[in-house]
Amino acid sequence: MKEPLIGKTLSELELLCEREGFAKYVSRQLASWLYDKRVQDIDGMSNISKAAREILKEKYCVGIIAPEQVITSVDGTKKYAFPTDSAPLLENGRHRLIEAVMIPDEDRATLCVSSQVGCKMGCKFCMTGRQHFHGNLTAAEILSQFLSIDESAVLTNAVFMGMGEPLDNWPEVSKAIEILTADWGFGWSPKRITLSTIGVLPNLKQFLDNTKCHLAISIHNPFPAERLELMPVQKKYDITEVVALLKQYDFSGQRRVSFEYTMFSGVNDTKRHADGLVHLLRGLECRVNLIRFHKIPDSPLETSPDEIIELFRARLNAAGLLTTVRASRGEDILAACGMLAGKNLEN
Ligand code: SF4
Repeated sequence: MKEPLIGKTLSELELLCEREGFAKYVSRQLASWLYDKRVQDIDGMSNISKAAREILKEKYCVGIIAPEQVITSVDGTKKYAFPTDSAPLLENGRHRLIEAVMIPDEDRATLCVSSQVGCKMGCKFCMTGRQHFHGNLTAAEILSQFLSIDESAVLTNAVFMGMGEPLDNWPEVSKAIEILTADWGFGWSPKRITLSTIGVLPNLKQFLDNTKCHLAISIHNPFPAERLELMPVQKKYDITEVVALLKQYDFSGQRRVSFEYTMFSGVNDTKRHADGLVHLLRGLECRVNLIRFHKIPDSPLETSPDEIIELFRARLNAAGLLTTVRASRGEDILAACGMLAGKNLEN
């Protein structure tokens, strides 16, 4: 199988050029063709010599993977499913699918990208968690989600909020972020990127120290023992330690941290939980996003009614915690994390 060129950082492209006997400046030409001009095949790299292109074509490919399925919601949200080589084939001989969701919104187009095939974290409310873990996506597969979709040229923002826990695949995710934000890469401001995590502590520190991207923490319950019921990761990485780490960083300027809080009826939506959240997050410049729960099959969890969500929001805001309720998008196309790939497995 040929090696994809996308997903390589400038220093990796320099190594490639050295290995293949190309001049060093070819690495910048390659980066420009891959990430700026978004070429589809090596023959399109017209300012690279024909001899060099022939050598490249023998061992490498651009590496853009076309979507296998595209579903468009009535609200314009589009869900893409891609085959991946980073996981063993299914019993029926087909590739497992990973997903990306494009969410248009007035002057924005945000891509929600996947970082793993399935996930090992096992959160009780998540369809991806149900599929278990089958592999880490490569940086090439992560970037291909950006480069292969119809809206590639008009994307303004990205959230690492699709399938998988991005900080559990930090080597590849950090490469993708480097390529997205480098001047030789996509040239995006880090403010256009948000990484969402359940709080994998050692890599969270790496992310905070080495990038300037925004952060979203999936919290869902302020009380460790209760959070553990929903999220097994709590046993290894305690949310109180995650918040203590965040309090060592400055979020009063350009960089933002938010907390994702899915509202489960009778589980985490009481006054006690609102007070607990206020207490835990006191002293941290942050905001809270309340999320209605998309019901998943064979789970007793239900979303909280709208009036309870509104009450919860009002309580947090009254206590000085900036809180919004996130609008649901693409419900008709199963846009919640892992829903489409899960559906494909069932089929
Ligand atoms: Fe994994 Fe995120 Fe789903 Fe938890 S919510 S199982 S971390 S994909």
